[in-house]
Amino acid sequence: MNRDDLLGRVLGPAEPELTCEQCFAELDRYVELVVGGEKADERVPGMKAHLHGCPACAEDFRSLRDLVSGER
Ligand SMILES: [Zn+2]
Repeated sequence: MNRDDLLGRVLGPAEPELTCEQCFAELDRYVELVVGGEKADERVPGMKAHLHGCPACAEDFRSLRDLVSGER
């Protein structure tokens, strides 16, 4: 069994999760939604799950969110 099969079984198909690349592409939009009080997790499905499992992207998210919310 390769690693993707194993991950697929552990995570299951119910919870969509972005890759780091997709996460990076959507991060600006996601942060805007979070800071704006929108339903970010509905608009960008899989982002929350990815941030939960990926410390590097979670760190990017936190710095960007602090930056954006500091501008308001
Ligand atoms: Zn990531």
